[in-house]
Amino acid sequence: MDNFQIWDSHVHLFPPEVYQNWDKYAQRDETFANLTRKPANGKGTEEAWVNIEEALECADRAGVYGLGMQGWYWNDAGLMRLHNDYMADAIQRYPNRLKGFISVNPKFGQEALDEIKRCVKLGFSGIGELGPGGNGYDFEDPDFLAVLDCARRHGLPVCIHCGEPIGHRYPGKDTTSLAPLPELIKKYPDLKLILAHMGGGLPFYEMNPRYRNAFGNVRYDMAANPLLYDIRSIRAAITMIGSDRLLYGSDFPLLLYPSKCREADFTMFIEDIRQNAGLSQEEWQQVMGGNFCAFLGDGSQ
Ligand SMILES: [Zn+2]
Repeated sequence: MDNFQIWDSHVHLFPPEVYQNWDKYAQRDETFANLTRKPANGKGTEEAWVNIEEALECADRAGVYGLGMQGWYWNDAGLMRLHNDYMADAIQRYPNRLKGFISVNPKFGQEALDEIKRCVKLGFSGIGELGPGGNGYDFEDPDFLAVLDCARRHGLPVCIHCGEPIGHRYPGKDTTSLAPLPELIKKYPDLKLILAHMGGGLPFYEMNPRYRNAFGNVRYDMAANPLLYDIRSIRAAITMIGSDRLLYGSDFPLLLYPSKCREADFTMFIEDIRQNAGLSQEEWQQVMGGNFCAFLGDGSQ
């Protein structure tokens, strides 16, 4: 790991056309509107919209080398393709620094599978972020299972937005039951999954010996962690699942410390991890980039 570089496995970079004309696109897609609406009174989560170049500048300032661009769970097929086209162009322009995950809504049926096929040829590395709640399906839905089948055939990892099963409701909260996931994971041991937002707490249930050995191809990311959990959750997750299966991901450009920082930024979360998560040098390199690159099959680190 001599040439270690930090990779953020979970950022969202929308086409500028979309966020510059937010009202117009919000009308086309209600889930997008609900999750990205500027909160009234400054309360609630907020996106700090940036384009590819601005994101890379922010990354440079924070010592982040690479960005894993997650797509979005659009309910409008035209917007799904527009977003994928934007990411495909970015991957072409910055092939060393960007990896792309395909935006897909499994409920589009064949259209979703065709979009995956189209995007594989454009150089994408994975599928996601899938948002079951936002697109109205659960983890037993045949359309969702068809996307997983397609991912397995292409050897692509799938990133899924997971919500914690307890507590208050908020716009980004996905209340889709995680209950079917352990059996699904057991059934498809070759399926590569990234369960976002600490998998909604699933690392704890991996301590159950019934499931422990089945989760070898599952990774967890810590996207939006400062908005959800105490920073000690990172150490706790490592204790439960090991340091080789946790991925640094931020949800950039979501404002993670809204009372302290009002612009797109990687630095604060990284410094929080560096100072307060208690990672050894080896764990740091695994979590902050090594695990993500290894999972995508990129042996460069
Ligand atoms: Zn998410």
